[in-house]
Amino acid sequence: MMISSPKQPGNDIDVYLSPVIEDFKLMWNQGVEVFDGFANETFKLHAMLFCTINDFPAYGNLSCYSVKGNKACPICKEDTASQQLKHGRKTVYLRHRRFLRSHHPYWRLKKAFNGHQEASGPPTPLTGVEVYEKVNNIDHTFCKSIKKVICDKHLEEEINLL
Ligand SMILES: [Zn+2]
Repeated sequence: MMISSPKQPGNDIDVYLSPVIEDFKLMWNQGVEVFDGFANETFKLHAMLFCTINDFPAYGNLSCYSVKGNKACPICKEDTASQQLKHGRKTVYLRHRRFLRSHHPYWRLKKAFNGHQEASGPPTPLTGVEVYEKVNNIDHTFCKSIKKVICDKHLEEEINLL
């Protein structure tokens, strides 16, 4: 889906996604009859949304994850190593060499990176239970132009989809 607009929708993207979510709920819960031209028969199709491809700002809108600031790396999370550039004032995210295989030659390079060798491996991935605990009580308000009561309903529907 491409959204053509002079301005990006921001958190109002859920207005665009609402019909898609309704379709996926139907396909997941009940399925839809579709025709298989090769087998020349109909069958019940069940579908789910597996992943999305989007830019980093849209990722923030879709996931409620902060994509700005010192802890903005969604992989490193609380273990994000960030630094503000002296002249550009941009925040950059460091220590991603630790995701390379253990003792990769880049681990020892200093000058090409931040002046330090990489000392430890990647952070431990969260378990499914830990992810659920983190997203279970997310309190966010989408739909800038719609009353919050409706937004809470959307949030509840989105959680049910997970
Ligand atoms: Zn990171």
